[in-house]
Amino acid sequence: MTTSERAYQQLKRRLEQEHEALLNELKHELVLNTLVPSTTAIELADLNALIKIAGASYLGNLHDLAARLEVVDAAICAMKLGMYGLCTDCEETIELAALEADPAQPRCHACRSHSRYHHD
Ligand SMILES: [Zn+2]
Repeated sequence: MTTSERAYQQLKRRLEQEHEALLNELKHELVLNTLVPSTTAIELADLNALIKIAGASYLGNLHDLAARLEVVDAAICAMKLGMYGLCTDCEETIELAALEADPAQPRCHACRSHSRYHHD
């Protein structure tokens, strides 16, 4: 296994672990706030439905959880498609250091500074 493959596997594991932790937390919060009728309903709902409920809830922590889960889920989907590590804006390779800082990072350095300049 090459160094980059090993780095990729580590990032993949981190994403999968974060995904699972976020999903558990999200489900827990949804039940706590009685946003879903039952725990069974949660187990049956798909991820996008849960993200939608949480995102529409106007509860700050649920909003943040849903937003992060969406980003992490997108990164995992990108891995399945073989598109992981490519910037969603310009399709350039995202720096490994940036991915190690945040495995779900969707943008390269240039696009990140660009959007920071425009939106913050
Ligand atoms: Zn970019």
